[in-house]
Amino acid sequence: MAKRHLNDQQRRNIEQRNAREVDNEDLRPGLVVAHHGKQVMLEDSESGERHGCTVKQTLGAVATGDRVRWRENADGRGSVEFVEARRSLLIRPDTLGKPRLMAANIDQVLITIAPVPEPNASVIDRAIVAALDLPAEPLLLINKVDRLNAGQRQVMRDFVAEWVGAGVDVVEVSATTGEGIDLLKARLHGHQSLFVGLSGVGKSSLVAALMPVGEDILVGAISEHSQEGKHTTRTSTLYHLPTGGDVVDAPGVRDFGVWAMTVEAVRRGFGEIENAAQHCRFSNCTHRAEPDCAVKQAVAQGMITARRYQSFLEMMDKLATQSPGA
Ligand code: GDP
Ligand code: ZN
Repeated sequence: MAKRHLNDQQRRNIEQRNAREVDNEDLRPGLVVAHHGKQVMLEDSESGERHGCTVKQTLGAVATGDRVRWRENADGRGSVEFVEARRSLLIRPDTLGKPRLMAANIDQVLITIAPVPEPNASVIDRAIVAALDLPAEPLLLINKVDRLNAGQRQVMRDFVAEWVGAGVDVVEVSATTGEGIDLLKARLHGHQSLFVGLSGVGKSSLVAALMPVGEDILVGAISEHSQEGKHTTRTSTLYHLPTGGDVVDAPGVRDFGVWAMTVEAVRRGFGEIENAAQHCRFSNCTHRAEPDCAVKQAVAQGMITARRYQSFLEMMDKLATQSPGA
């Protein structure tokens, strides 16, 4: 087992060794497209070929979406020797409460809702904050619009207006009829995106609508390599979209739970409150009891919904009681 904490000297030694190895010409660039503990499936960035690999002991965990340097052994199997700096890393506790790397380098989170199952506004608030905290851009995706008549569609648009007002983009789609799918493809282009949303909103159907037929053999392949048999553990998997961009399907994070949050992310997730707050009398206004609070004025005038205001205060309360680093 790797030690939990390395001292500074050990860390420097590892960094120096890693730096030497990156200069090594044997090492090739690759992208992790699925991971399962210390076993990863990677795609060589030059040939596009896939290789089952082990991960060098001192590297620690590697996640789907990681950009790595790897070496091919004589038997065609490989070893991951180095992980490139990450733009984001999604960590979630597993069933035993141990932190697990779910996905690396996500830059866009598709918060998927649908008429059925009925969406919950405060869950969406939290998903937006969690996405910003990664950091990644949240996009609100309304699926199953084929089920809505004109009146119901307007009700849905009114429902999402709060987030549009906070600066979040919305895309309306139907995995069934294909409506809006081209628009969605354009939004996915050039990004590494993650779908989240309640079970049944249509995430799998959307991935299927975006992908060419017959493209999900990775999980079985990785279990085979790790000699653990073909058990059904579901692992995060990265898909390349034919129209550009990558989508990561991370089964453990599909039901929008709350990831760790920071005050900064909460502020950004409530953009309309942040904007109004610039006009509060006190720069450190908490928008509760202070005089000349522009946020409370905006709520009174209906510029900010009371629901969003309450949701913001609740989240700030939660942060205040949360121990640092928890
Ligand atoms: P997931 O749990 O989020 O992955 O949802 P699924 O992709 O399994 O879809 C749940 C159910 O919704 C299935 O019965 C799908 O056929 C249905 N569904 C998915 N997308 C649409 C859509 O755009 N329109 C309609 N009418 N049904 C859909
Ligand atoms: Zn205020």
